[in-house]
Amino acid sequence: MATLSLDVCEIFYSLQGESSFAGRPCVFIRLSGCNLRCSYCDTRYAWAPGTRMEIGEIIAEIQKYPAQLVEVTGGEPLWQEKTLDLLKALCEAGYTCLLETNGSLWLEEMPDGVVRIIDVKCPGSGCADSFMKWNLKQLKPRDELKFVITAYWDYRFALDFITANSLEDRIIHFSPVTSVLKPEILARWMLADGAPARLQLQLQLHKILDLR
Ligand code: SF4
Repeated sequence: MATLSLDVCEIFYSLQGESSFAGRPCVFIRLSGCNLRCSYCDTRYAWAPGTRMEIGEIIAEIQKYPAQLVEVTGGEPLWQEKTLDLLKALCEAGYTCLLETNGSLWLEEMPDGVVRIIDVKCPGSGCADSFMKWNLKQLKPRDELKFVITAYWDYRFALDFITANSLEDRIIHFSPVTSVLKPEILARWMLADGAPARLQLQLQLHKILDLR
């Protein structure tokens, strides 16, 4: 039988900083490798190979923490062949699983119970048109969409994408790249248009709060 192992960048415990689960204690499993190269990527260190870990070792590691919420992220977690096996094992172990994905890879055959937070890449990412549109047909009511916004053209792209695909009733997050777009500017655009989305600041709470 083939070994069920994955390339792991890091495992850490903190407060969830994004999505509708923001603020909840969460164990993060960051997998190595990504198929995209976004202009604003703040996890480039995850592009490099990490440490090979068997699924059993990963579960044993996260069981050291008391949270029942786990996020599998990257890099791009679906870039690795065994990620679906990991998600299945996490669900079977009773965890609530979030999967943060860049939306460019196939989302079919996902274990039931996984909440997918799917990034739709805007032009400013340098990876526009990477989104696999077929994935919109796979969405469950619990899944969430995210647009990372660098400028007004990204904002318009996001609004047009939502309208063109009738996504107004979905949970959608607009997240500004704060190094190039002030959150209050994005907030003003959203207020002016009554945008069908939530402003989300990409708060890496473990970097903001001193939790030692
Ligand atoms: S998809 Fe995510 S991890 Fe990959 S390059 Fe883009 S921002 Fe970085």
